[in-house]
Amino acid sequence: MLSGCSSNPQIPAPSLIKSSIPPIRFLLTFDDGPSGATYKNSTEQILDVLAKNEIQPDIKAVFFVQIHAAFNGSKKKHSLLVREHAEGHLLAFHTTTPRHANHRFLKPEDLEFSLQRGIEDLTKVSGSAPQLVRPPFWNYDERTLESYHRHGLKMLLTDLSANDGKIYGVNWSWHKRSNLLAQLRRVKADWADGNIPTVNGHMPVVVTLHDLNSYTARNIEVYLRILLQVAHELDMPVAAKPFYDNRTQLEKAALARTVKYMHNEAYIPGVWGWLWR
Ligand SMILES: [Zn+2]
Repeated sequence: MLSGCSSNPQIPAPSLIKSSIPPIRFLLTFDDGPSGATYKNSTEQILDVLAKNEIQPDIKAVFFVQIHAAFNGSKKKHSLLVREHAEGHLLAFHTTTPRHANHRFLKPEDLEFSLQRGIEDLTKVSGSAPQLVRPPFWNYDERTLESYHRHGLKMLLTDLSANDGKIYGVNWSWHKRSNLLAQLRRVKADWADGNIPTVNGHMPVVVTLHDLNSYTARNIEVYLRILLQVAHELDMPVAAKPFYDNRTQLEKAALARTVKYMHNEAYIPGVWGWLWR
């Protein structure tokens, strides 16, 4: 029988898990927004639920935003960037190209211009330069990573993904729970081995959703509940406040989870891990 397969990590039995292992805390991130919709705006719906819900009020999240559209015509998108910052969320870099371009496929000078421009624009909203970047399509190489670092950006990938990015028009998931359970089971091995950095007494577990997805917006509270359920099912203790509720702590935790150098071990969710390897 084959053993040591990375997709089937050995999970310690609950009795073997050291009681000293810090609890996990879910670090929510949203990609691709903000939405420019004037009716049932998905970003607004998500911001409303993060602020007020039955699980934990005043949750703060990282928003990896598409900056270009918010500064080139869409007042709605721009106003939502302002709202995200004003409500204590953290703005971070995703794209500044007119479309969701893959940074690896941009000419070096275009990537340079894009990073410089995007950082300037986000600084206008938040008052300080963004420190986090998430590459479109999770795709990066030594060149793009070096460019990020030269611009003071650190790259955050993810532990869990709702796999709710819009692909070929599909924007729903029948498998929310089983998908997150399977991914958290993989994280559990790293957690039990102490391989996740501890920040303020917790091990941050990064979760990715997409705030442009109307299904995600309608179900965001369901997702929050499922995260707690799957952690419970896997006997992983969760912080008393399971989600971050302070921007400074959120940023510190996110920075601790960034990818420092090019390597092939970093987890890339869904079809993208298969495509880029
Ligand atoms: Zn994206």
